[in-house]
Amino acid sequence: MSENVILQVNNLKTYFDVTKGIFAPKQIVKAVDDVTFDVKEGETFGLVGESGCGKTTLGRTIVKLYEPAGGSITFEGKDVSKIKGADLKAFRKDMQMIFQDPYASLNPRMTVGEIIKEPMIIHNIYDTDEEREERAVELLKIVGLKPDHIRRYPAEFSGGQRQRIGIARSLAVNPKFIVCDEPISALDASIQAQVVNLLKNIQREMNISYLFIAHDLSMVKYISDRIGVMYLGHIVELGPSNDVYHRPLHPYTSALLSAIPIPDPDQAKARNRIVLEGEVPSPINPPAGCPFCTRCPKATERCRTERPQPIEVGTRTVSCHLYEK
Ligand code: SF4
Repeated sequence: MSENVILQVNNLKTYFDVTKGIFAPKQIVKAVDDVTFDVKEGETFGLVGESGCGKTTLGRTIVKLYEPAGGSITFEGKDVSKIKGADLKAFRKDMQMIFQDPYASLNPRMTVGEIIKEPMIIHNIYDTDEEREERAVELLKIVGLKPDHIRRYPAEFSGGQRQRIGIARSLAVNPKFIVCDEPISALDASIQAQVVNLLKNIQREMNISYLFIAHDLSMVKYISDRIGVMYLGHIVELGPSNDVYHRPLHPYTSALLSAIPIPDPDQAKARNRIVLEGEVPSPINPPAGCPFCTRCPKATERCRTERPQPIEVGTRTVSCHLYEK
């Protein structure tokens, strides 16, 4: 991993207008609200949080599937909102995405070879079909599939194999950055580890940067160099994965960690599990103060009215009044 920043996200906001009818009061979903972080070349930045916290929307905004309502995304020094023409095509090639659902993300009518070669055709990567075929076979081997799989259809593969096909497709254009949107959540536990190890090996060989999105903190810790913990559209804690995992600062990170299943029943019994009460507030009407105040076991009156700002605590950035001096 180098110290060069490849992706810089500053105060990013992605809002959706969900107002029903022209005379109804405005309703805005603040799916991503004021998010700031960077990713270095060859780094894996893990993004973790419960379903609906905005992590997938954040990933999709970065790859330009959604337009941000505010803030900025800079990729290799270029403002992503302003790139057009040839620069936009280069951005689409360099920034790839692996989707959560290995069943829905592959066209069932195309062979594996056609699926992998399609992005090469779109981006004019090779001159002849023989060259593309050769590269597709090479990619199948890299992701642990066989060359003769090239003539088969997605329906003939298991979930784990389909995710490998999705990874091969994203590698077909030699990307510099991949947004991995919950790439393992639809897979069996034994297959999850294989896919994560495959992503790690590919990164080591090709120096690709990853934004790895998942709700399982232990898996995110395993693959990531740094972790951002998301709650209700905000990153509430960010830091090196070991520090976040072993010494969480934010009460929400502590709650996420305490929910990770422990295989040893004695250890599990001895653990002080934090059970969060209440529902995640609606992103249409988030709390005025700390976004976590409606469920936080340490909330005070101040938390309900005053939003905590991100502050540096050692290696970490954390948004919580408990750490203000
Ligand atoms: Fe809990 Fe208050 Fe910290 Fe928010 S600011 S996490 S409510 S203690």
